[in-house]
Amino acid sequence: MNNNNFNFSNSYPELSINKVYQSYSEKPCLKNITFDVSKGEIISLLGPSGSGKTTILRSIAGLERIISGKISIDDKLVSSKETFIPPERRKIGFVFQDYALFPHLNVLDNILFGLKRDQRNRAFEVMELLGIENLRGSYPHQISGGQQQRVALARAIAPSPRILLLDEPFVRLDIRLREKVRDEVLHLLKISGTTAIIVTHEAEEAMFMSDRIVVINEGELMQIGRPGDLYNRPKSKFVAEFFGEVNLIPGKIKKGRIDGFNSLKFYHPSLIQKNKYFQNLFLFLHFD
Ligand code: ADP
Ligand code: MG
Repeated sequence: MNNNNFNFSNSYPELSINKVYQSYSEKPCLKNITFDVSKGEIISLLGPSGSGKTTILRSIAGLERIISGKISIDDKLVSSKETFIPPERRKIGFVFQDYALFPHLNVLDNILFGLKRDQRNRAFEVMELLGIENLRGSYPHQISGGQQQRVALARAIAPSPRILLLDEPFVRLDIRLREKVRDEVLHLLKISGTTAIIVTHEAEEAMFMSDRIVVINEGELMQIGRPGDLYNRPKSKFVAEFFGEVNLIPGKIKKGRIDGFNSLKFYHPSLIQKNKYFQNLFLFLHFD
């Protein structure tokens, strides 16, 4: 995990999101969101409730149209103001926050739903992979939350999607089960080389699961980077505070030094520009 050895043999990314703008009324809910995802990469979308995470997934999957910007999958434009490729032609798997299993279908039929008639073997293959073969005749209401989660995952990966989108897939599991299922899902994604975007509002979960994290707040992309980059080099107070307990010390910068803390010297070019004598800042300290 956390390495950067993705498959760069293609010159273009698996998924490209470029200046995507979305709004439901006057109020914009996605403001020029831009990021790329490489093949086999696992990305977390991290942000507080209402920040636009689900809307980004729904736009990628083609469950909603975008107002402006571009979304391309495998270098093919799938969404823009004028273009809209329907969800079934995008080869995207979606695990919804509430799993969205069909209540009137048993586990096997839920998994068979997105498969062609001759792909019955594939349903058994994914059930075996997730250890749920013995549940095949059960209905969703007869199985536990953890089992439902696995069925939802099995249904999403059965058609071998190009990209798997998971919307807060672990929130409904109790803490004890959460870690176990999280480990399993991560293992499954890695061994199958699946490109995935996982939505979460927990920084710790994002750090554990992903190669890179996209931090979203109020429809804006605050920062994107590897877990260590975001933790150690947050570019804003918001990101610093999102990654755990930090002590923020307000101050002013004066010729590359913090006023009052003259022993601390800063080397960041933007801080030592001659014309920036007084610049407000926060000094943040993690206690590790
Ligand atoms: P998150 O998943 O980060 O909690 P959402 O993407 O669900 O956030 O929502 C982002 C914002 O867009 C919220 O303010 C939400 O109320 C609004 N929103 C989402 N879907 C709709 C919709 N179908 N109609 C109107 N407003 C919506
Ligand atoms: Mg959401």
